[in-house]
Amino acid sequence: MAKAYLVGSGIAALAAATFLIRDGGFDGSDIHLFEEQRNIGGSLDAGGTAVTGYTMRGGRMFEAEFRCTYDLLSGIPTLDDPSLSVTQEILAGHEDFAWDDIARLVDGDRRIVDTRSTGFSERDRLELVRCLATPEGHLDGKRITDCFGEHFFTTNFWFMWCTTFAFQSWHSAIEFRRYLKRFIHLFPEFSSLSGIHRTRYNQYDSIVRPLTAWLLDRGSPSIPDATSPTSDSHRGAGTPRSRPSTSPGTDGTRGSPWPPMTWSW
Ligand SMILES: Cc1cc2nc3c(=O)[nH]c(=O)nc-3n(C[C@H](O)[C@H](O)[C@H](O)COP(=O)(O)OP(=O)(O)OC[C@H]3O[C@@H](n4cnc5c(N)ncnc54)[C@H](O)[C@@H]3O)c2cc1C
Repeated sequence: MAKAYLVGSGIAALAAATFLIRDGGFDGSDIHLFEEQRNIGGSLDAGGTAVTGYTMRGGRMFEAEFRCTYDLLSGIPTLDDPSLSVTQEILAGHEDFAWDDIARLVDGDRRIVDTRSTGFSERDRLELVRCLATPEGHLDGKRITDCFGEHFFTTNFWFMWCTTFAFQSWHSAIEFRRYLKRFIHLFPEFSSLSGIHRTRYNQYDSIVRPLTAWLLDRGSPSIPDATSPTSDSHRGAGTPRSRPSTSPGTDGTRGSPWPPMTWSW
């Protein structure tokens, strides 16, 4: 049987491992992940305890067109309720508590800005269309400022766009265009962000841990166990793990009994 060796343990590698098993007929034991960090999940990191405090770099926003993500997570049970998939949990959470910002922008005088208008001038609109219509290769080496006049960077649209996707005006025009194309369908509800989906917990607890539990259940001995407490005192590189307990640990996180399991670390 073929073997798969995946470098990293971010969502890309966890997804690849899951699809290899789910769609590719792989046995979990033929899949090996190599992760240089002590924790798995890559950018989907979050951790800590009630005693030491919690850290996470940020929250990830999803939306209805995250089709591959939702396909991936549709077969992954949540740790709280095995009858519920992670996708179902996210979508149900959105139904129960959809985002509806009433103060998307606040001005220097602390007044809520009326964001129903993008604030575009005719020139801004034309430049936006030109940016979208320009083949990517023609934007090579260009900044966003190379594609738009000064007024564009004073519009409601720009302030909402750059604070949602962490753009600076000097960032790559290609990247800006890619985001435009990827998220243009969100324009109508952009001022309220009501099209944005969130996971129930942070993405480490809501995605990385359930995915890892699913992989461990399918005999992936080389998948590091993300369902264990993440502090260094609990975690040692090369320390073997097993299928995790989903009951809360004494420190408020879900604990793992730590029976041995090896992986490529
Ligand atoms: C603060 C923040 C907010 C974000 N917000 C959003 C959002 O709202 N919506 C959204 O869709 N995305 C968002 N993202 C982006 C998203 O989280 C990442 O694109 C995604 O998690 C990347 O996954 P990955 O598996 O490709 O890479 P990573 O998560 O970077 O994983 C790569 C892993 O490979 C390991 N690695 C690398 N090289 C080696 C090596 N040679 N040997 C062993 N291991 C190696 C790394 O240690 C790492 O664990 C955000 C990211 C951050 C940090």
